Amino acid sequence: MTGQFDVVVIGAGPAGYPAAIRAAQNKLKVACIDEWRNTDGSYAFGGTCLNAGCIPSKALLESSELYQRAKEEFSIHGINLGDIKLDLAAMQKRRASIVRTMTGGIVALFKANGITAYQGHGKLLADNTVESTGPDGSKSILKTRHVVLASGSVPVRLKSVPHDGKLIVDSWNALEFDAVPKRLGIIGAGVIGLELGSVWRRLGSVVTILEAVDQFLPIADQTIAREAQRHFKKQGLIIELGARVTGAKVVGGAVNVAYADAQGEHSLQVDRLVVAVGRRPFTEGLVGDGVNLEMDPRGFIQVDDHCRTNLPDVWAIGDVVRGPMLAHKGKEEGIMVADLIAGRYGEVNYQIIPSVIYTAPEIAWVGQTEEQVKASGRAYKVGSFPFAASGRARAMEAAQGMAKVISAVDDDEVLGVHVIGPMAGELIAEAVLAMEYSASTEDLQRTIHAHPTLSEAIHEAALAVDKRAIDAINR
Ligand code: FAD
Ligand code: AMP
Repeated sequence: MTGQFDVVVIGAGPAGYPAAIRAAQNKLKVACIDEWRNTDGSYAFGGTCLNAGCIPSKALLESSELYQRAKEEFSIHGINLGDIKLDLAAMQKRRASIVRTMTGGIVALFKANGITAYQGHGKLLADNTVESTGPDGSKSILKTRHVVLASGSVPVRLKSVPHDGKLIVDSWNALEFDAVPKRLGIIGAGVIGLELGSVWRRLGSVVTILEAVDQFLPIADQTIAREAQRHFKKQGLIIELGARVTGAKVVGGAVNVAYADAQGEHSLQVDRLVVAVGRRPFTEGLVGDGVNLEMDPRGFIQVDDHCRTNLPDVWAIGDVVRGPMLAHKGKEEGIMVADLIAGRYGEVNYQIIPSVIYTAPEIAWVGQTEEQVKASGRAYKVGSFPFAASGRARAMEAAQGMAKVISAVDDDEVLGVHVIGPMAGELIAEAVLAMEYSASTEDLQRTIHAHPTLSEAIHEAALAVDKRAIDAINR
């Protein structure tokens, strides 16, 4: 079978499917190919994010937090429920059903936008021809002007920790456990390790996270990281820093993990071990022989600021190219590329991409950390506001953490906003918008925030930059 298109997108994750939709909105003839298969063998659009990442992890984070709050917090509100029981099968069914609904939504969106969807493997051949191989091995040749590569990423595996998908697992398997492991080991205290650790700790596991680096959350502002570390410790999450895992072996239904730290060699026995040491770009079988697509030394497809590869009219977006491995970064790249293809304006502001860690308290930030501003040499001022002084946070029984605003001394530019506390991931949107519009801290100070809301914490932190906070003592 042969098809003729303006744009063929390979990969329907959060980078690829928005690219396809925007290209179709731009009146282009679009096809999108995806080979994702779920553990039951079924094909599904949505990539890592919908099937094995953002969405299922947030479903379980929500359920597990409710379980924990029902057990530990409801009585504080005067709600006594008696014996609270966990039904993990029902929790997992809900998670799977949310994923099914969301991935089904992409099928509907493709249909509504007139996009031809292929389930199977896509391969870029010479002269911008794409070969699509369906589940039954049948091949379609798609002739197209533009190709968008959005093949995403896969978990990094450690040679010395042999993955078996049962006892030694990756993040995807760890979202689908059908029993709560008594002792859970996690290698890597990055975003994924912390979120998965939070889920299973709340559901009853003793969780130990082994992290090779000495510093906790080096990507985050260190005031926030220290606050987070304190809360996680209090919650009972065991985080060993400077602990490099050197090997793991399955012995009699458990896993023996070997690691080394400054004190020497250690071993840890756990019932399940999750390897969460990062993700790598996925490009296997993506291009045919003789197609000289340029890669960088780390295996990412080489692109310029507008996601152009070295090949004419071949673009690459999302986790398979440089930059943070985040769904919303990929989405914006997809939209940019689809607009550029249509001759419209397109740009991604890589300086203002928000990051969120969906633990409790939640962590979110945008712009530079205080450490980065300090290193840049620019004079700055800082204001922060504790959620302990927020009426809304108190009412929510969530008065932990703080908001922090970093501002330039010379022109009052907002350089970074960092939040640890309730709904931090939602609150950060205000800071993203402010920074996108080059707001000054005074702009934030003069913006009316409804009372009582959590967003007042950002307002007060902005006021605190000039020692003018009202609801907290200015230091
Ligand atoms: P992917 O989502 O990996 O999609 C690529 C798709 O392309 C896949 O479906 C793949 O099967 C398909 N494909 C690859 N090669 C081919 C081929 N040759 N032919 C056909 N199809 C192909 N990010 C956030 O922003 N927020 C979060 O809360 C968040 N939570 C996460 C939690 C976990 C546990 C994990 C693992 C990741 C999380 N991420 C989160 C990261 C996020 O999932 C990724 O950044 C995002 O999915 C990348 O999108 P993508 O479209 O580039 O790639
Ligand atoms: P991220 O890249 O944010 O997903 O985080 C992955 C984390 O895993 C990083 O903080 C790494 O330092 C950590 N890591 C990588 N390899 C090892 C290892 N062998 N032992 C312990 N931690 C590791």
